[in-house]
Amino acid sequence: MTTALITHADCLGHVTPPGHPERVARLDHVLHAMAALDLLRLAAPRAGDADLLRCHPQAHLDRIRAALPAGGAAQLDADTWLSPGSEEAARRAAGAAVRAVDAVLGGEVRNAFCATRPPGHHAEQETPMGFCLFGNVAIAARHALDHHGLERVAVVDFDVHHGNGTQALLWDEPRALLVTSQQMPLWPGSGAPSERGAHGQILNVPLAPRSGGAEMRAAYETLVFPRLDAFAPELLLISAGFDAHQDDPLAELAWSTEDFRWLSRELCRRAETLCGGRVVSVLEGGYDLEALAASARAHVEELIEAGK
Ligand SMILES: [Zn+2]
Repeated sequence: MTTALITHADCLGHVTPPGHPERVARLDHVLHAMAALDLLRLAAPRAGDADLLRCHPQAHLDRIRAALPAGGAAQLDADTWLSPGSEEAARRAAGAAVRAVDAVLGGEVRNAFCATRPPGHHAEQETPMGFCLFGNVAIAARHALDHHGLERVAVVDFDVHHGNGTQALLWDEPRALLVTSQQMPLWPGSGAPSERGAHGQILNVPLAPRSGGAEMRAAYETLVFPRLDAFAPELLLISAGFDAHQDDPLAELAWSTEDFRWLSRELCRRAETLCGGRVVSVLEGGYDLEALAASARAHVEELIEAGK
Protein backbone atom coordinates (compact mmCIF):
# COMPACT_ATOMS: atom_id res chain seq x y z
CA MET A 1 0.00 0.00 0.00
CA THR A 2 1.07 3.52 -0.56
CA THR A 3 0.13 7.19 -0.60
CA ALA A 4 -1.21 8.97 -3.66
CA LEU A 5 -0.43 12.55 -4.62
CA ILE A 6 -3.17 13.83 -6.89
CA THR A 7 -2.73 17.05 -8.80
CA HIS A 8 -3.03 18.59 -12.28
CA ALA A 9 -1.24 21.33 -14.19
CA ASP A 10 -4.62 22.98 -14.88
CA CYS A 11 -4.64 24.00 -11.19
CA LEU A 12 -1.84 26.43 -12.09
CA GLY A 13 -4.13 28.03 -14.65
CA HIS A 14 -6.28 29.76 -12.02
CA VAL A 15 -4.48 33.11 -11.92
CA THR A 16 -5.33 35.72 -9.31
CA PRO A 17 -4.34 39.41 -9.49
CA PRO A 18 -0.86 40.50 -8.31
CA GLY A 19 -0.65 40.61 -4.51
CA HIS A 20 -3.49 38.13 -3.99
CA PRO A 21 -2.52 35.61 -1.28
CA GLU A 22 -4.11 32.58 -3.03
CA ARG A 23 -1.63 32.49 -5.88
CA VAL A 24 -0.07 30.08 -8.36
CA ALA A 25 3.20 30.03 -6.40
CA ARG A 26 1.44 28.26 -3.50
CA LEU A 27 0.94 25.10 -5.51
CA ASP A 28 4.39 25.35 -7.08
CA HIS A 29 5.93 25.42 -3.60
CA VAL A 30 3.83 22.53 -2.33
CA LEU A 31 4.69 20.35 -5.32
CA HIS A 32 8.38 21.24 -5.06
CA ALA A 33 8.33 20.20 -1.40
CA MET A 34 6.87 16.81 -2.41
CA ALA A 35 9.33 16.18 -5.24
CA ALA A 36 11.59 13.74 -3.39
CA LEU A 37 8.83 11.85 -1.57
CA ASP A 38 7.81 8.30 -2.38
CA LEU A 39 4.29 8.85 -3.72
CA LEU A 40 2.05 7.37 -6.37
CA ARG A 41 1.45 10.38 -8.59
CA LEU A 42 -1.99 10.48 -10.17
CA ALA A 43 -3.47 13.04 -12.54
CA ALA A 44 -6.62 14.69 -11.24
CA PRO A 45 -9.55 14.08 -13.56
CA ARG A 46 -11.94 16.86 -14.40
CA ALA A 47 -15.02 16.77 -12.18
CA GLY A 48 -18.14 16.35 -14.27
CA ASP A 49 -21.41 18.17 -13.68
CA ALA A 50 -22.77 15.11 -11.85
CA ASP A 51 -19.97 15.38 -9.27
CA LEU A 52 -20.50 19.09 -8.69
CA LEU A 53 -24.29 18.77 -8.61
CA ARG A 54 -23.99 16.58 -5.50
CA CYS A 55 -23.42 19.85 -3.60
CA HIS A 56 -24.26 22.77 -5.90
CA PRO A 57 -27.29 23.63 -8.03
CA GLN A 58 -26.94 23.98 -11.80
CA ALA A 59 -27.32 27.74 -11.37
CA HIS A 60 -24.01 27.86 -9.49
CA LEU A 61 -22.18 26.04 -12.28
CA ASP A 62 -23.80 28.31 -14.87
CA ARG A 63 -22.92 31.44 -12.90
CA ILE A 64 -19.24 30.56 -12.70
CA ARG A 65 -19.06 29.72 -16.38
CA ALA A 66 -20.85 32.92 -17.34
CA ALA A 67 -18.49 34.99 -15.17
CA LEU A 68 -15.27 33.58 -16.70
CA PRO A 69 -13.32 36.41 -18.35
CA ALA A 70 -11.93 36.01 -21.86
CA GLY A 71 -8.68 37.47 -20.53
CA GLY A 72 -7.40 39.11 -17.37
CA ALA A 73 -9.43 38.67 -14.22
CA ALA A 74 -13.06 38.94 -13.15
CA GLN A 75 -14.04 39.64 -9.54
CA LEU A 76 -16.81 37.63 -7.87
CA ASP A 77 -16.53 39.22 -4.41
CA ALA A 78 -13.96 41.11 -2.34
CA ASP A 79 -11.63 38.08 -2.21
CA THR A 80 -12.63 35.74 -5.00
CA TRP A 81 -11.46 36.13 -8.59
CA LEU A 82 -11.71 34.25 -11.86
CA SER A 83 -9.23 34.04 -14.71
CA PRO A 84 -9.87 32.27 -18.03
CA GLY A 85 -8.53 28.99 -16.57
CA SER A 86 -10.38 29.10 -13.25
CA GLU A 87 -13.24 26.75 -14.09
CA GLU A 88 -10.84 24.09 -15.34
CA ALA A 89 -8.67 24.49 -12.24
CA ALA A 90 -11.68 24.23 -9.94
CA ARG A 91 -13.00 21.17 -11.79
CA ARG A 92 -9.58 19.48 -11.43
CA ALA A 93 -9.55 20.37 -7.72
CA ALA A 94 -12.97 18.81 -7.16
CA GLY A 95 -12.09 15.92 -9.46
CA ALA A 96 -8.92 15.20 -7.48
CA ALA A 97 -10.92 14.83 -4.28
CA VAL A 98 -13.37 12.45 -5.97
CA ARG A 99 -10.50 10.48 -7.55
CA ALA A 100 -8.81 10.26 -4.15
CA VAL A 101 -11.93 8.75 -2.61
CA ASP A 102 -12.09 6.20 -5.44
CA ALA A 103 -8.40 5.33 -5.05
CA VAL A 104 -8.61 4.86 -1.28
CA LEU A 105 -11.95 3.04 -1.16
CA GLY A 106 -10.95 0.91 -4.14
CA GLY A 107 -7.80 -0.26 -2.36
CA GLU A 108 -5.50 1.27 -4.96
CA VAL A 109 -3.70 3.24 -2.23
CA ARG A 110 -3.94 3.49 1.54
CA ASN A 111 -4.39 7.26 1.68
CA ALA A 112 -4.14 10.28 -0.60
CA PHE A 113 -3.27 13.98 -0.66
CA CYS A 114 -4.80 16.33 -3.21
CA ALA A 115 -2.40 19.17 -4.06
CA THR A 116 -4.83 21.40 -5.86
CA ARG A 117 -6.23 24.91 -6.03
CA PRO A 118 -8.50 26.83 -5.82
CA PRO A 119 -9.39 25.61 -2.32
CA GLY A 120 -12.98 24.71 -1.53
CA HIS A 121 -14.12 24.90 2.07
CA HIS A 122 -15.68 28.38 1.90
CA ALA A 123 -17.86 27.74 -1.17
CA GLU A 124 -21.53 27.44 -0.25
CA GLN A 125 -24.33 25.98 -2.40
CA GLU A 126 -24.76 29.04 -4.59
CA THR A 127 -22.03 31.31 -3.26
CA PRO A 128 -18.38 31.20 -4.28
CA MET A 129 -16.39 32.98 -1.57
CA GLY A 130 -13.07 33.16 0.24
CA PHE A 131 -11.01 32.12 -2.85
CA CYS A 132 -13.25 29.00 -3.24
CA LEU A 133 -15.52 28.03 -6.16
CA PHE A 134 -16.66 24.44 -5.48
CA GLY A 135 -16.88 22.58 -2.16
CA ASN A 136 -14.18 20.01 -2.91
CA VAL A 137 -14.26 18.16 0.40
CA ALA A 138 -18.05 18.13 0.72
CA ILE A 139 -18.29 16.84 -2.85
CA ALA A 140 -15.85 14.05 -1.94
CA ALA A 141 -17.88 13.22 1.18
CA ARG A 142 -21.12 12.96 -0.78
CA HIS A 143 -19.36 10.88 -3.45
CA ALA A 144 -18.22 8.44 -0.76
CA LEU A 145 -21.73 8.28 0.71
CA ASP A 146 -23.88 8.28 -2.41
CA HIS A 147 -21.66 6.59 -4.99
CA HIS A 148 -19.75 4.15 -2.77
CA GLY A 149 -22.57 3.61 -0.31
CA LEU A 150 -20.66 4.38 2.86
CA GLU A 151 -22.78 5.03 5.93
CA ARG A 152 -20.44 7.27 7.94
CA VAL A 153 -17.83 9.71 6.68
CA ALA A 154 -15.95 12.16 8.90
CA VAL A 155 -14.45 15.47 7.78
CA VAL A 156 -11.81 17.21 9.91
CA ASP A 157 -11.01 20.78 8.82
CA PHE A 158 -7.95 22.29 10.52
CA ASP A 159 -7.65 25.34 8.26
CA VAL A 160 -7.39 28.49 10.41
CA HIS A 161 -10.61 29.85 8.88
CA HIS A 162 -14.02 28.34 9.56
CA GLY A 163 -15.12 25.86 6.90
CA ASN A 164 -18.42 27.65 6.43
CA GLY A 165 -18.94 26.18 2.98
CA THR A 166 -18.40 22.58 4.03
CA GLN A 167 -20.67 23.25 7.00
CA ALA A 168 -23.41 24.63 4.73
CA LEU A 169 -23.09 21.78 2.24
CA LEU A 170 -23.19 19.08 4.95
CA TRP A 171 -25.56 20.87 7.36
CA ASP A 172 -28.40 18.39 6.91
CA GLU A 173 -26.33 15.27 6.16
CA PRO A 174 -26.62 12.86 9.11
CA ARG A 175 -24.08 10.46 7.59
CA ALA A 176 -21.28 13.05 7.74
CA LEU A 177 -19.55 14.20 10.91
CA LEU A 178 -17.87 17.58 10.37
CA VAL A 179 -15.31 18.79 12.90
CA THR A 180 -13.81 22.17 12.14
CA SER A 181 -11.31 24.11 14.27
CA GLN A 182 -10.70 27.78 13.56
CA GLN A 183 -9.35 30.98 15.01
CA MET A 184 -12.22 32.99 16.43
CA PRO A 185 -12.81 35.82 15.92
CA LEU A 186 -11.66 35.74 12.29
CA TRP A 187 -13.20 35.96 8.82
CA PRO A 188 -15.79 34.64 7.84
CA GLY A 189 -17.19 35.08 11.36
CA SER A 190 -19.13 31.81 11.60
CA GLY A 191 -18.03 28.67 13.47
CA ALA A 192 -19.35 29.11 16.99
CA PRO A 193 -19.96 25.95 19.05
CA SER A 194 -23.69 26.68 18.89
CA GLU A 195 -23.59 25.80 15.15
CA ARG A 196 -24.20 22.07 15.39
CA GLY A 197 -25.87 20.95 12.15
CA ALA A 198 -29.41 19.71 11.56
CA HIS A 199 -28.62 16.43 13.32
CA GLY A 200 -26.05 17.63 15.87
CA GLN A 201 -23.37 16.15 13.59
CA ILE A 202 -21.20 19.26 13.33
CA LEU A 203 -18.60 20.19 15.95
CA ASN A 204 -17.13 23.69 15.85
CA VAL A 205 -13.94 24.22 17.84
CA PRO A 206 -12.94 27.89 18.20
CA LEU A 207 -9.31 28.69 19.05
CA ALA A 208 -8.23 32.01 20.56
CA PRO A 209 -6.01 34.43 18.58
CA ARG A 210 -2.32 33.98 19.41
CA SER A 211 -2.92 30.51 20.86
CA GLY A 212 -0.41 27.90 19.77
CA GLY A 213 0.30 24.22 19.53
CA ALA A 214 -0.37 23.43 23.17
CA GLU A 215 -3.89 24.85 23.01
CA MET A 216 -4.53 23.10 19.70
CA ARG A 217 -3.35 19.72 21.02
CA ALA A 218 -5.51 20.08 24.12
CA ALA A 219 -8.58 20.96 22.06
CA TYR A 220 -8.09 18.03 19.72
CA GLU A 221 -7.42 15.57 22.54
CA THR A 222 -10.40 16.64 24.66
CA LEU A 223 -12.98 17.54 21.99
CA VAL A 224 -12.12 16.25 18.54
CA PHE A 225 -10.62 12.79 18.97
CA PRO A 226 -13.34 11.50 21.34
CA ARG A 227 -15.97 12.73 18.89
CA LEU A 228 -14.22 11.00 15.99
CA ASP A 229 -13.90 7.78 17.97
CA ALA A 230 -17.58 7.82 18.90
CA PHE A 231 -18.68 8.41 15.31
CA ALA A 232 -16.56 5.52 13.98
CA PRO A 233 -16.22 6.78 10.40
CA GLU A 234 -15.54 4.45 7.48
CA LEU A 235 -13.44 7.14 5.79
CA LEU A 236 -11.65 10.23 7.13
CA LEU A 237 -11.50 13.32 4.95
CA ILE A 238 -9.20 16.17 5.92
CA SER A 239 -9.47 19.81 4.86
CA ALA A 240 -5.77 20.50 5.22
CA GLY A 241 -5.21 24.23 5.46
CA PHE A 242 -1.83 25.34 6.76
CA ASP A 243 -2.69 28.96 7.60
CA ALA A 244 -2.73 28.36 11.36
CA HIS A 245 1.07 28.43 11.06
CA GLN A 246 2.79 31.11 13.14
CA ASP A 247 4.30 32.64 9.98
CA ASP A 248 1.02 32.90 8.07
CA PRO A 249 0.05 36.48 7.17
CA LEU A 250 -3.74 35.96 7.14
CA ALA A 251 -4.36 34.86 10.75
CA GLU A 252 -2.97 34.92 14.26
CA LEU A 253 -2.61 31.36 15.47
CA ALA A 254 0.88 30.18 16.33
CA TRP A 255 1.17 26.56 15.25
CA SER A 256 4.60 25.28 14.23
CA THR A 257 5.40 22.89 11.41
CA GLU A 258 5.82 20.21 14.08
CA ASP A 259 2.30 20.93 15.35
CA PHE A 260 0.95 20.12 11.87
CA ARG A 261 3.05 16.94 11.92
CA TRP A 262 1.66 15.96 15.33
CA LEU A 263 -1.93 16.57 14.25
CA SER A 264 -1.43 14.67 11.00
CA ARG A 265 0.08 11.71 12.84
CA GLU A 266 -2.70 11.63 15.41
CA LEU A 267 -5.41 11.80 12.75
CA CYS A 268 -3.74 8.96 10.83
CA ARG A 269 -3.48 6.93 14.03
CA ARG A 270 -7.21 7.34 14.64
CA ALA A 271 -7.97 6.42 11.04
CA GLU A 272 -5.83 3.30 11.41
CA THR A 273 -7.97 2.13 14.30
CA LEU A 274 -11.33 3.36 13.03
CA CYS A 275 -11.32 2.82 9.27
CA GLY A 276 -8.32 0.81 8.15
CA GLY A 277 -6.22 3.93 7.63
CA ARG A 278 -8.45 5.28 4.87
CA VAL A 279 -7.63 9.00 4.71
CA VAL A 280 -8.21 11.51 1.93
CA SER A 281 -6.61 14.91 2.55
CA VAL A 282 -7.31 17.98 0.44
CA LEU A 283 -5.25 21.19 0.40
CA GLU A 284 -7.12 24.28 1.56
CA GLY A 285 -5.29 27.45 2.71
CA GLY A 286 -1.75 28.40 3.74
CA TYR A 287 -0.29 31.70 2.51
CA ASP A 288 3.31 31.95 3.70
CA LEU A 289 5.04 30.00 0.95
CA GLU A 290 7.83 28.53 3.08
CA ALA A 291 5.56 27.64 6.01
CA LEU A 292 3.01 26.16 3.62
CA ALA A 293 5.58 24.01 1.84
CA ALA A 294 7.21 22.76 5.06
CA SER A 295 3.89 22.04 6.81
CA ALA A 296 2.34 20.31 3.79
CA ARG A 297 5.48 18.20 3.48
CA ALA A 298 5.30 17.21 7.16
CA HIS A 299 1.62 16.35 6.68
CA VAL A 300 2.30 14.15 3.64
CA GLU A 301 5.30 12.50 5.32
CA GLU A 302 2.93 11.36 8.06
CA LEU A 303 0.46 10.08 5.47
CA ILE A 304 3.31 8.12 3.86
CA GLU A 305 4.43 6.70 7.19
CA ALA A 306 0.86 5.68 8.03
CA GLY A 307 0.36 4.20 4.57
CA LYS A 308 3.32 1.82 4.74
ZN1 LIG B 1 -7.84 29.47 5.56
